[in-house]
Amino acid sequence: MQQTLSIIKPDAVKKNVVGKIIDRFESNGLRIVACKRLWLSKADAKAFYAVHSQRPFFNDLVDFMVSGPVVVMVLEGENAVLKNRELMGATNPKEAEKGTIRADFADSIDANAVHGSDSIENAKIEIDFFFAKREIC
Ligand code: ADP
Ligand code: MG
Repeated sequence: MQQTLSIIKPDAVKKNVVGKIIDRFESNGLRIVACKRLWLSKADAKAFYAVHSQRPFFNDLVDFMVSGPVVVMVLEGENAVLKNRELMGATNPKEAEKGTIRADFADSIDANAVHGSDSIENAKIEIDFFFAKREIC
């Protein structure tokens, strides 16, 4: 069993497709073991995406992530990290495979509907960033 962090980004929350995205996870063997809706502060978004702080898109990414509420979840299941990345599709929705979350719900590389941890190690760090142990069950 693995756990991974998923964020439904402000564009998808605005479109009111939270349930449709959660259905993709549940229909593919992932279980929501923690979930909350919150509006990130700029400090939160900067800290969460610190690995990208030197990238040219960093400021736009932070501004986008604080543009509205997000839904943050811990997904649990077999190979959860990789499975979530497969369900999400490529970072750029124009390159995302048909039937993936980003192909179906995202508009652009900036507003791309979901975040997902990219490794087991980062999943642990990202889960700790958002959730206390007692919130995951
Ligand atoms: P992913 O979310 O697929 O793991 P990255 O970790 O590489 O992608 O990037 C984090 C987020 O930064 C992406 O989801 C996307 O919103 C944004 N991003 C990445 N690359 C670009 C880019 N070239 N231009 C604009 N935004 C980008
Ligand atoms: Mg990433």
